[in-house]
Amino acid sequence: MEIQGKTVIVTGAARGIGRGIAAAYADEGANVVLADLGATAAETAGDWNYALAGESELAKAAQEIKARGGICAAIEVDVSDRASCHNLVDKSLEIYGRIDVIVNNAGVIQTGPLVDFAERDWDRVFAVNVKGIFLLSQAALPHLKVNRGVIINIASVAGKRGFPQMGAYCASKFAAIGLTQSMAAELATDSIRVNAICPGNVDTSMWFDHLSKSERQRRLHGTDTVEATFNAVIRNTIPLGREQTPADMAEAALYLTRAENVTGVSLVVAGGFIMN
Ligand code: NAD
Repeated sequence: MEIQGKTVIVTGAARGIGRGIAAAYADEGANVVLADLGATAAETAGDWNYALAGESELAKAAQEIKARGGICAAIEVDVSDRASCHNLVDKSLEIYGRIDVIVNNAGVIQTGPLVDFAERDWDRVFAVNVKGIFLLSQAALPHLKVNRGVIINIASVAGKRGFPQMGAYCASKFAAIGLTQSMAAELATDSIRVNAICPGNVDTSMWFDHLSKSERQRRLHGTDTVEATFNAVIRNTIPLGREQTPADMAEAALYLTRAENVTGVSLVVAGGFIMN
């Protein structure tokens, strides 16, 4: 698909990987909808193990794109809520008149031993990381059909193999890959392509506000700060010896948008950490 002039919705776009992907589509001349929790994050602040992006982060991400001459709009969404996903689709259509690409990037993580992992945390990880893909894709489907659209789901290397104390997150990312394959097989008759990207280790809130703080990671790598832990993980586990970036994920997303004969793949972008 030619990207210039198309409408791309990116969820979880207020920061991190989503913000990088949104900026890259805008640089290619797309009309980009940056979708994130916005003000609704304030309502839930404190009820997750690290802060999710709020209203000001979403506005700032959109301002940065506009300052570079990009075309974008910021719309609040909770991807785990059906009505909110329909609202996102309706507003995107009102503003740009069409929807061509959906990047299901919004995600949350919670880790910890299975023995006392909270059911509520399990449910939220699945509600955002799996049901969110289903709900927004379903809401956008009639419009994607018209335009032979593209869906890109952000999974993870944790969707390719299991890691200790990551049962809910790994299961949700395996599910995201299974859903990607099923959607790709089903929607091919409508010429809609569906692919996943599996990032390795990207220095975002997910790492710095959660994973690098885990006692287990610190003990494993003999480190005492979040930076040292993240750097040790990269040094000790990534064959290419460098972290992955939002720009790396954006490059993969642009490729998957343009690659007319590619559907159902889960493209690992992880410096060799996982090779299948
Ligand atoms: P992040 O926490 O910086 O970004 C996630 C974004 O999703 C946040 O802006 C957050 O507000 C938003 N979000 C959370 N719940 C939402 C909801 N219900 N509705 C709408 N938005 C919601 O983390 P990130 O690392 O940029 O993560 C982006 C994606 O990449 C996630 O799916 C994550 O699982 C995946 N991923 C990240 C890494 C990594 O190393 N950082 C590795 C593999 C996969």
